[in-house]
Amino acid sequence: MTAGETALVVFSGGQDSTTCLFWAKRRFGRVQALSFVYGQKHVGEVELARAIARKADVDLDVMDVSFIGTLGRNALTDASLAMDAEKPEGGVPNTFVPGRNLFFLSIAAVYARERGIRHLVTGVSQTDYSGYPDCRDTFIRSLNVTLNLGLDEQLVIHTPLMWLDKAETWALADELGVFDLVRRETMTCYNGIAGDGCGHCPACKLRREGLEKYLLMKNEERRTNNEQ
Ligand code: ZN
Repeated sequence: MTAGETALVVFSGGQDSTTCLFWAKRRFGRVQALSFVYGQKHVGEVELARAIARKADVDLDVMDVSFIGTLGRNALTDASLAMDAEKPEGGVPNTFVPGRNLFFLSIAAVYARERGIRHLVTGVSQTDYSGYPDCRDTFIRSLNVTLNLGLDEQLVIHTPLMWLDKAETWALADELGVFDLVRRETMTCYNGIAGDGCGHCPACKLRREGLEKYLLMKNEERRTNNEQ
């Protein structure tokens, strides 16, 4: 049973982590959110995250881990770098922030431990993982074991979106009753535009294609139900 327990959600204010926030709210007795400032170009992200957490009635803590952005070059923290639209042959796109999930989850684990929280929730997904190695299931499982060994704890990392594609993530948000909130108030766009975003960056493309696919599925379902 998890109803009496607290979950810590790694929260950015994007589509995925917002869906996870509401998923956790349904499943756990109490939810705490943790956001990171890591030198991203669009710090407005944090304000959006704050607004969503307020609406969700969830406490949000913001932690500054800007050193992550200075360790290596990537297009999310370096304004002089144009982002890759596609995954380059045999490599990761330059929107990959090396170590981001490793750092986030390690810090979140210590944060949780110090507060007696056993459950961590992250919105990573292997299905649409854009070539980011730290979104894969094996990495998360391996890190979970490592963290428990390093902290002598029994933490559980939950990844509700791991095997969902973007359309299924929209379906989950709808099922949780937050489809409109996720559509209008979250920010996934690499160019820092909330809601439907700039429309042309890789993150917007993925989000939009998922949304279109989901809306099509929903219409199809409605039509079938009406015919019956
Ligand atoms: Zn965009």
